[in-house]
Amino acid sequence: MKKFIVANWKCNPTTLNQAKNLFNSIKKGLGAVKNTKVIICPPFVYLEELAKFKRTISLGAQDCYFQEKGAFTGEVSAAMLKDLGCDYVILGHSERRKYFSETNDLINKKLKSALEKGLKPVLCIENTSQIKQCLKGILKQKVIIAYEPIWAIGTGKTPSPAQAKSFNVKIKKLVASNTIVLYGGSVNAKNVEGFIIKSGFDGVLVGGASLKPKELINIVKFVDRI
Ligand code: PEP
Repeated sequence: MKKFIVANWKCNPTTLNQAKNLFNSIKKGLGAVKNTKVIICPPFVYLEELAKFKRTISLGAQDCYFQEKGAFTGEVSAAMLKDLGCDYVILGHSERRKYFSETNDLINKKLKSALEKGLKPVLCIENTSQIKQCLKGILKQKVIIAYEPIWAIGTGKTPSPAQAKSFNVKIKKLVASNTIVLYGGSVNAKNVEGFIIKSGFDGVLVGGASLKPKELINIVKFVDRI
């Protein structure tokens, strides 16, 4: 099975030009990747332009609303993202839960609408207790899970490979045998080996390091060789 690398650019960079340069530097540096699925998730506003260059890189959004259209000012629907050339969407990221008060119930609705419109959701969870409610009424193998301990996001702190492995095992017991489970939280080119080889994750979700082309390329190239 292919390994997955999801790059979450969050609210970066500030201009379309910078986004194009970043995307193209990553694409050029990666060349042909055989065993790894690389998914870049830029801010919504860059998706349409980046879709023109994507080729082997897949595009994902960082959120979507659960209604398809209508009087929901400021929202972007799964149908709109699919139309732009997006194949994936991150849902339930801890920053959305913290700053935008997203609940498991809301995330469940977003997951259902993403699946209905043909987007593959990457569901972020901070702990195993969030899985049941988020996945209510959803086939577990249809969703990619990203386990992201809050204290590890953007802090440079990471769980030991043994700690991460015990979470991976716990999560795998709660999902389907073929559900893809990723690790996220301060992943870089030096520590990625631990999460894949020692902890047995199917890939990683990379935040800060995905804005540094060399670092992201090194992460992908390492994972692709495994
Ligand atoms: C994230 O955005 O989900 C994330 C894991 O960020 P970072 O890699 O910067 O910790």
